[in-house]
Amino acid sequence: MSGLMEGKRGLIMGLANDKSLAWGIAQKLHEQGAELAFSYQGDALLKRVKPLAESLGSDLLIECDVADMGKLDAAFDALKERWDSLDFVVHAIGFSDKNELRGKYVDTSLDNFLMTMNISAYSLVAVTKRAVEMMPESGGSILTLTYYGAEKVVPHYNVMGVAKAALETSVQYLANDLGPRNIRVNAISAGPIKTLAASGIGDFRYILKWNELNSPLRRNVTIDDVGGAGLYLVSDLSSGVTGEVHHVDAGYHVVGMKQEDAPDI
Ligand code: NAD
Repeated sequence: MSGLMEGKRGLIMGLANDKSLAWGIAQKLHEQGAELAFSYQGDALLKRVKPLAESLGSDLLIECDVADMGKLDAAFDALKERWDSLDFVVHAIGFSDKNELRGKYVDTSLDNFLMTMNISAYSLVAVTKRAVEMMPESGGSILTLTYYGAEKVVPHYNVMGVAKAALETSVQYLANDLGPRNIRVNAISAGPIKTLAASGIGDFRYILKWNELNSPLRRNVTIDDVGGAGLYLVSDLSSGVTGEVHHVDAGYHVVGMKQEDAPDI
């Protein structure tokens, strides 16, 4: 199978390095012929993102801090200067103060609650609004990344779980708003993967071990696993799917108890 994304152009938001979930998805899209642009958050990340983008044949790099609506407008203006249309967006962005990704949710501060909600949930709405203006009559596809901590309590995930719940519900409302334009909006709920963002979550190594021992597949997922599912959700293979939260978590979300064969950790 090749050429599934031939003639399609998309913006990848949230690439930090070659461990990023966005990188797993970008590689699969590129393999299938997609033309890619990348947004990056500040100059510190540019030196990491540039060589990765170049290795996928892209020289279209745009600075964008999604917390700032002016910068988001400027980023889409810059994209419009190079491309007259956009077929898909991958939104792989989340952020919270790491001091509040440990301990108790009850201790969340208002400032960090609002900042986390803005960057991790509202930014999908703000990005979608701007992307839709560039999408052709035939439609388009928007994909975001979420986590099981939106559905069930995962210790330390705290305010990020609440923001992911808002993100998942936003996926449904956006899907309904944009369905008549044949623009699909979906999310992947990925199992835990060691990335820069994940390193801010308290006891993340324990979460990784727990998932490995207790998921039906008895392993953790990789950015390749996420990439394959991302390709499916962005491409026409999933033409009848919208408003969906698709779990790529080795099946962990269907399990209600510790596995009998899992040792105590
Ligand atoms: P990552 O650190 O590689 O990527 C996070 C990205 O968010 C970075 O590129 C960072 O620059 C970007 N970002 C943060 N604040 C931003 C802002 N204000 N403006 C623009 N960009 C900003 O980590 P990742 O794990 O690949 O995270 C990507 C997405 O996947 C996140 O939404 C995360 O919550 C989600 N996710 C991760 C896991 C996991 O275990 N790693 C599991 C499920 C979902």
